[in-house]
Formats: sequence, C-alpha cells, structure tokens
Amino acid sequence: MLANDCEVPHISTGDILRSAVAAGSELGQKADHYMSTGELVPDDLILDLIEERLGQKDAQLGWLLDGFPRNVPQAEFLQKILDQIDQPADFVVNLDVEDAVIVARLLQRGRKDDEESVILNRLEVYRQQTEPLIEFYRDRQQLVSVDGNQTMEAVYAALKSLVME
Ligand code: AMP
Repeated sequence: MLANDCEVPHISTGDILRSAVAAGSELGQKADHYMSTGELVPDDLILDLIEERLGQKDAQLGWLLDGFPRNVPQAEFLQKILDQIDQPADFVVNLDVEDAVIVARLLQRGRKDDEESVILNRLEVYRQQTEPLIEFYRDRQQLVSVDGNQTMEAVYAALKSLVME
C-alpha cells in the first residue's frame, strides 16, 4: 500500500528469493535450504541480487525495501549504494512487534517457512544478526520506531504519515 502511494516498486528480497526457488534457478537452488530452516541466505548472493534489482529501470526514482538490510554488512552495502547515488536515507523505520504477536501472525499466514520451529529460529537469527541494526541506525540518528503491534490500518497510517512528512 505504501509503495503504491509513493509510486515506487516494492522490493522484497524474500519474494525475489521465493521466485528463484520456484523457478529452480541457480540462486534458488543455493538459497532453498537457508530459507526453509530460517537462516539468512549468504550475503554474497543477497548483495548481487539487490544490486541487480536496484539497477533496473523501475527503481531509478526510489524504492521500498522489504526484508533488507538484515545484518550490518548488508546495511553497510546499502549505505555505499546510497552514497554513490547521492540519496541519503532520511530515516530507517523499525517496526517494533512483540514476539508473541509475530508468532501468532505468522502461524496464521501459513507460508512454507511459517512452521513454529522455523519461526522460532528466524526470531533467534533476528536477535543475533538483525537487531544490531537498531543501534547501527540509532548511532547515525536515522532510527524511527513504529509500534507494529497495532492493527494493519493503524500501522499503515503511522508509516504513511512518516513517509509523507
Ligand atoms: P522474508 O520474506 O523477508 O521473511 O524472508 C524469507 C527468508 O528469505 C528469510 O528467512 C531468509 O532465509 C531469506 N532472506 C530474505 N531476505 C534476506 C536478506 N536480506 N538476507 C538474507 N536472507 C534473506
């Protein structure tokens, strides 16, 4: 909804990887077991994928990144790209959601990797590798948090007012 409002492509690394797995491409074959166990796909694969996607024509006036960056090296890579195109990020949004709410939502969604044991591993991987990005962006004074425990409509309204400021 946000990408639509902003007229930019919604770029989800997870969606791109799931298409690659479905197509049986080399990327898909390499990514499959990481995704089904809830581990992060290695950075060399992800960084190539994101560089390629951001170079495509529809992404030249902006984008909405979903699921990226997931760790500090990915955030540093993104920073390098933003420096190259002289487009600093005004802020980075942390959607703050309690674990119990995440688990309940994902069990309802029922994606292939939404089995409880895999969800719990994804949360563990998040704590270890993704959560440090909160400090990373706070140190750079770019961090904004939105309460993601609210309804979808309320979260959308909060994000929209941030982005449209
Ligand atoms: P998502 O659709 O964002 O929930 O991602 C689903 C799965 O794809 C994750 O559990 C990872 O295995 C993989 N994945 C997605 N984005 C990334 C990323 N930026 N870095 C590494 N792995 C990723």
